[in-house]
Amino acid sequence: MAGISGDVVVPESARKLAGKVALITGGASGIGECTARLFAKHGARVVVADIQDEAGARLCGELGEGNASYVQCDVTVEEEVAAAVDHAVARFGALDVMFNNAGIGGEACHSILESSKADFERVLSVNLVGPFLGTKHAARVMVPAGRGGCIIGTASMAAAVAGAASHAYTCAKRGLVGLTVNAAGELGRHGIRVNCVSPAAAATPLATRYVGLEGEAFEAAMEAVATLKGVRLRVEDIAAAVLFLASDDARYVSGHNLLIDGGFSVFNPTLG
Ligand code: NAD
Repeated sequence: MAGISGDVVVPESARKLAGKVALITGGASGIGECTARLFAKHGARVVVADIQDEAGARLCGELGEGNASYVQCDVTVEEEVAAAVDHAVARFGALDVMFNNAGIGGEACHSILESSKADFERVLSVNLVGPFLGTKHAARVMVPAGRGGCIIGTASMAAAVAGAASHAYTCAKRGLVGLTVNAAGELGRHGIRVNCVSPAAAATPLATRYVGLEGEAFEAAMEAVATLKGVRLRVEDIAAAVLFLASDDARYVSGHNLLIDGGFSVFNPTLG
């Protein structure tokens, strides 16, 4: 697909993030990595924040020193999130796009009777407190800079569909949708848009570990439950949606949760 697949160069006139600075948490792998590559193709300078130092540094090396910078950042630690945001401003002069994407799957346990408190707290800490801290510190620099901005979170289809994931994961992602609408309401007066994406399952380390299947077995399991048949969700589809929300194409879109689930969450099979 033009502008998304690995070796395609986006012509300068078609670049959607020229001159923008983006920070991506969980940028060393999966959806975050794919988005970092796509953002860079579209002219953004990218800060990759993650706890996987080797993978993050390697990615930034590939994207080029002038275009990308890695920073170690555990999104559950406020000082580290604040430092990552400050790093983006110090290194590239501003912060225009904050992508609160880091997340964990936690226990693949759907029964409340078997769910542990420790897992519940850990999943909420990474998947909800992390985006809260990212939104807070992005706003801390975006508001006084006065050049607007855009904050995007990775929620999940699990926020919309009962039983798709553990209680912890579902609660965290529903919470992120709540954070999105609240922050959009508050930050809109500063020209800052806040949105999130809610993808179905795409083959990343998080999802394959959670489902317990890899490769073709994972894809076959997803195809079996999909509403939209014959089309597999790829991380590139999610990155493309994030690019849309980050770009001026979405200049009047705020407080929105963009489902990328092939219609799964709205399809009622008993009526089909
Ligand atoms: P992934 O495992 O490939 O990437 C997640 C990244 O987050 C990793 O690089 C990891 O090191 C990083 N991370 C984990 N804990 C962190 C922490 N405390 N601080 C900083 N970084 C941390 O998985 P992915 O599927 O690309 O996940 C990205 C986001 O997408 C997550 O929020 C996930 O919940 C969400 N999501 C994924 C799917 C899917 O099917 N892949 C579907 C819906 C939502």
